[in-house]
Amino acid sequence: MTRTHSLTRPGTPTVLGPAPGTTEDAGTYTATGGYGTATGAAELLELIATAGLRGRGGAGYPTAAKLRAVRDAGHQAGARPVVVANGEEGEPGSVKDRWLLRARPHLVLDGLARAAQITGADRGYVYLSDPTAGDRVRRALAERAPGLPVEVVETPHTYVAGEETAVVRRINGGPALPTAKPPRPHERGVGDAPTLVANVETLARIALIAARPDQRHRTARTTLVTLAGGAAEPLLAEVPYGQTLRSLAAAQGDAEPSGALMGGLFGGLIGPGRLGLVLDPDALAAAGTALGCGALRFLAPDECPVALASAALTHLAAESARQCGVCVAGTGAIREAVGALTTGTAAPDLADRLNRWSTSLPGRGACGLLDAAAGTAGSLLRAFPHLVRSHLDAPCPACAASAGGLTVAVPLVAGPAVPHQRTAPRSR
Ligand code: SF4
Repeated sequence: MTRTHSLTRPGTPTVLGPAPGTTEDAGTYTATGGYGTATGAAELLELIATAGLRGRGGAGYPTAAKLRAVRDAGHQAGARPVVVANGEEGEPGSVKDRWLLRARPHLVLDGLARAAQITGADRGYVYLSDPTAGDRVRRALAERAPGLPVEVVETPHTYVAGEETAVVRRINGGPALPTAKPPRPHERGVGDAPTLVANVETLARIALIAARPDQRHRTARTTLVTLAGGAAEPLLAEVPYGQTLRSLAAAQGDAEPSGALMGGLFGGLIGPGRLGLVLDPDALAAAGTALGCGALRFLAPDECPVALASAALTHLAAESARQCGVCVAGTGAIREAVGALTTGTAAPDLADRLNRWSTSLPGRGACGLLDAAAGTAGSLLRAFPHLVRSHLDAPCPACAASAGGLTVAVPLVAGPAVPHQRTAPRSR
């Protein structure tokens, strides 16, 4: 069971919407200002830039810069760009993108159309793995007025399937695996055209800014977070930047957890002394961690950070796409080392080896999975050095009892019955 809740100020446009437990239809969306055309492409791009909107898929890149890069590449190549709504969230602790596609497909499709308007794209895709989300998006496409041609492309659900080069490769008919960069998708992507791959929450916020330009700063400084761990059921919440991590932990039932796993598996572990940090991508990056996709997993009172790190590394090692030798060897070695800590079988030099890997491996794989593994190891050493030492000396009873759960269920979203009309999976 996962809950939903908005912690935004009254009057702030929200992606959770007025009825978070149901699927919004075209009539309701249009009646509340959706699919409006009052704002032109250049004006909307300026509004997005001045709002400071950042991507919500994990990297947090400025959205206006990404839109401009695709638009300009299209002009230079004399080609019409392609826009992609990326709803494939690989992080096991995040549910926001699937929830958004299930509950507010029109908000995402409106944002995709706006992105096409800005970049000059003449076609779009919605990329996802969740069958329920796929059905809701197809229904929404059938309901809306004719506009941008949009195709739904499904992918098997993996940790790396949502990485932008994997998205392009899949839509082009290949496997959903990352490729070496360059070229980046904005240079050459779907069908070799300049391609915008944008997270679905980012697109939803573009649509909100188009509908309520006067609220653009609040819209850009509000975000979906998936909170888990602690003493309560997981929570999908919409929150303004600037809240302390402690206040989010309190919403999760325990204001003083002994730490947290940040940004899905991408921001590493933080200790209890960091709960005063505020939710803000720049502040978190400056503190050596990351907001990523907004998934925060707090430590329960009886939970050992070493066991949580081991669960994260086991997941990453299992999800390695096994394309890069350094990733297969490095992720496996880090997983084994931290696993040995949980069983009290680690060699005395283990901390030195973990430290070396945490600094030498980042940036050497084709995607961010190896970075996440190295970052998890490094953050464990930094945030909990005393625990690493004690685990070298003796087995840990809390580790032995750990269930290690990382996956969160998507909150219930009631929708109309949809006839089964799944897109045939693409060949791999
Ligand atoms: S870094 Fe790892 S997960 Fe990423 S492409 Fe290479 S092998 Fe695959």
